[in-house]
Amino acid sequence: MSKITHEKILKICEKWQRELKVNVRRVQIREMKNKWGSYSSNGIFTLNKELLRFPIRCVEYVVLHELLHRIIPNHGRTFETLLYAYMPEWEKLHKCLENNGRK
Ligand SMILES: [Zn+2]
Repeated sequence: MSKITHEKILKICEKWQRELKVNVRRVQIREMKNKWGSYSSNGIFTLNKELLRFPIRCVEYVVLHELLHRIIPNHGRTFETLLYAYMPEWEKLHKCLENNGRK
């Protein structure tokens, strides 16, 4: 499996911003305590550095999930429907992240 890099993560963020028509001002990758990603009101999208050791598809899922929250803030039905539409295998990726998390 090809090694994931910061650059690849930034590319993924660009791709999903285009796809979902949402914009973030800046993407940063750094250590985070208990989240895979977050979006702050000043437009900064932060991704957990730990994601660098996961398969690229898992990173895509986190990016998609977090960017979708720009459109739908909760985890309700619409949110799930959109996840299935954009990434039908998202549940598997979600589990992969859960099972391999540090906590
Ligand atoms: Zn969420």
